Amino acid sequence: MTAQIIDGTAIAAAVRAEVAERVASFVASGHRAPHLSVVLVGDDPASHTYVGMKGEAAVEVGMTSDTLLMPATATFEEIMATVARLNADPNVSGILVQSPLPSGIDEPAVMSSIRVEKDVDGLTPASLGRLVQGEPVMVPCTPAGVQQMLVRSGFDPAGKNVVVVGRSMLVGKPVALLLGLRAAGANATVTIAHTGTRDLAAVTREAEILIVAAGRPNTVTADMIRPGAVVIDVGTNRVEAPERKSGFKLTGDVEFEAAKEVASAISPVPGGVGPMTIAMLLSNTLKAAEIQAGTA
Ligand code: NAP
Repeated sequence: MTAQIIDGTAIAAAVRAEVAERVASFVASGHRAPHLSVVLVGDDPASHTYVGMKGEAAVEVGMTSDTLLMPATATFEEIMATVARLNADPNVSGILVQSPLPSGIDEPAVMSSIRVEKDVDGLTPASLGRLVQGEPVMVPCTPAGVQQMLVRSGFDPAGKNVVVVGRSMLVGKPVALLLGLRAAGANATVTIAHTGTRDLAAVTREAEILIVAAGRPNTVTADMIRPGAVVIDVGTNRVEAPERKSGFKLTGDVEFEAAKEVASAISPVPGGVGPMTIAMLLSNTLKAAEIQAGTA
């Protein structure tokens, strides 16, 4: 039987529509629209594209957004001063410092200076610490997106054996922590696998829900999947595709075509986790505004 496809594009659209509705009622009850401020340092074209997409997405759901452009020559002190000003500004709900910062800038120190209530990426040590403590304020966007894809597709992780392949601070660790929380949409028994895992296939075959965030195509092949498992593929890899005009295509970490004959449900790449990340950024920005308004 061919697996159900977990359509991240459709789920992300539903999340965005719900955020838009909640923003409208937040504004209707007398609050200023949530505001997202993005700090963009330097001229990296990819970063400019991502920041543009995030700003447009915020405006589409009724928020406001601005981008503080700083030259590649900006000093550490200047960037820290910008973040401090945004931290103190009551009109700014969420702050996002676009990574990577120019080389020579102490990026962890800049990120750490973002106030936890405004950290819409959810990746500062304070935000991750709150997640470890079981009292998250802002959950990192990609892990939050994975959780929403599962829950909204009817695959509640509660009580399930979840295996996460990957232990990065961006995806693997926080998604494992999130799904292991004693909370709705979580409460799973979670195993984290990585390059030090002795027999990866034996571990992944135990998974009722398998989340793959390794960053390498075909890390998980069909024979590594328990029949009937739910598979979420976070991987986003550019691989050569001479038949395409661009010369490349995006692929996940899972051998998709064969895996969909074994799994009961699977998320594709593209069109899976990717679209969820911006949707959850919007959700976090609304939450930030609600926290600051005292309505969360
Ligand atoms: P990362 O920092 O490179 O981490 C990869 C993790 O996977 C590491 O913990 C590594 O183990 C583990 N790993 C790699 N190969 C493995 C293998 N063969 N067996 C077992 N474990 C293996 O990557 P990341 O930032 O977490 O991102 C992972 C993927 O998700 C990338 O393709 C990235 O582009 C994608 N991504 C997508 C989104 C989205 O919005 N869709 C967002 C973020 C990331 P070690 O720790 O032992 O090295």
